[in-house]
Amino acid sequence: MKRLLILMLILSQSGLFAQQLERHNKVLKLMGSRFEITAIHEDSQVAWDAINAGIAEIQRIERLISSWDPNSQTSEVIRQAGMAPVQVDQELFDLIKRAIQISKITDGAFDISYASMDRIWKFDGSMKEMPDAETVALAASRIDYHKIILNEAERTVLLKDKGMKIGFGAIGKGYAAQKAKEVMSSLGIKNGVVNASGDLIAWGHDERGQVFEVGIADPKNIQQVLSWLQVENTSVVTSGDYERYVMFDNKRYAHIIDPRTGYPTTGIKSVTIITANPELADALSTSVFVLGVDQGLELVNQLPGVECLIITDQDQIKTSQNLTLNNKS
Ligand code: ADP
Ligand code: MG
Repeated sequence: MKRLLILMLILSQSGLFAQQLERHNKVLKLMGSRFEITAIHEDSQVAWDAINAGIAEIQRIERLISSWDPNSQTSEVIRQAGMAPVQVDQELFDLIKRAIQISKITDGAFDISYASMDRIWKFDGSMKEMPDAETVALAASRIDYHKIILNEAERTVLLKDKGMKIGFGAIGKGYAAQKAKEVMSSLGIKNGVVNASGDLIAWGHDERGQVFEVGIADPKNIQQVLSWLQVENTSVVTSGDYERYVMFDNKRYAHIIDPRTGYPTTGIKSVTIITANPELADALSTSVFVLGVDQGLELVNQLPGVECLIITDQDQIKTSQNLTLNNKS
């Protein structure tokens, strides 16, 4: 009897009695982007309940932060710009507070009030000529994170000047990915991935028990993988998809605005940030675009636990100090 028990123990430890881990995933459009949500679990019911809860969480966040949805709290803050403070949920208040902190560490390169420019620059191919300098200057004069006034006690947000706007395009997807991961984890998913069109967080391992790997596309041929990054409980966020930019006079303008000038940034094709929290990664990837290669890497090298890979307009690859690339051919 005793012998049998010992044998069973050994067998169960060797995994023979364990159910097979399986990968379940769903691709869908959320926050205007393609999301892929993956749960790895032996019980498909547990996996799907978690995936659906993750989706509901992302939709909830979208309703809170969207500036397209006239019913969102964000839209109300924008409508009241230059007039009255608006009381918001603690969650939105805290997100704005964190966004302002990132503005501070990036010296204003990251600024959610960039959004006053959103009627001027269009990156969907519809723009045929440069907007005139005056229009750009006027809209740019409304960008200033110092004029986003937060009142802790009242939990209100006031945009000080008329015409000011805020937008979470550079931080919202990362935040949503983090929250979806938290919800899925709380429902028992120890291994999973939330990928919000290149804003990705992975936790645990894949169904074979191996570390997840993320391929960085070769800028010269985006079907090819330039390098594999091993992602173990971390996030990998890439800013600058290859589609959204405009060309004027042979210059490539990215869909990220330099708050200091009101013009889109030039010089960088894509920025990948690797760090634990996808919200920070999302915001920093946008910031590095604005700061440029040198200042961007200087900032990242000062931040513990943050790494970065930049692809320049000339297809050069620049990395932060502690990033080692794993080139498999
Ligand atoms: P992607 O859309 O490729 O994921 P980002 O995460 O960098 O790239 O987000 C870009 C979006 O961020 C823009 O479409 C816009 O909504 C917003 N944005 C543009 N410039 C800035 C800026 N300087 N600071 C904060 N947000 C910005
Ligand atoms: Mg970003």
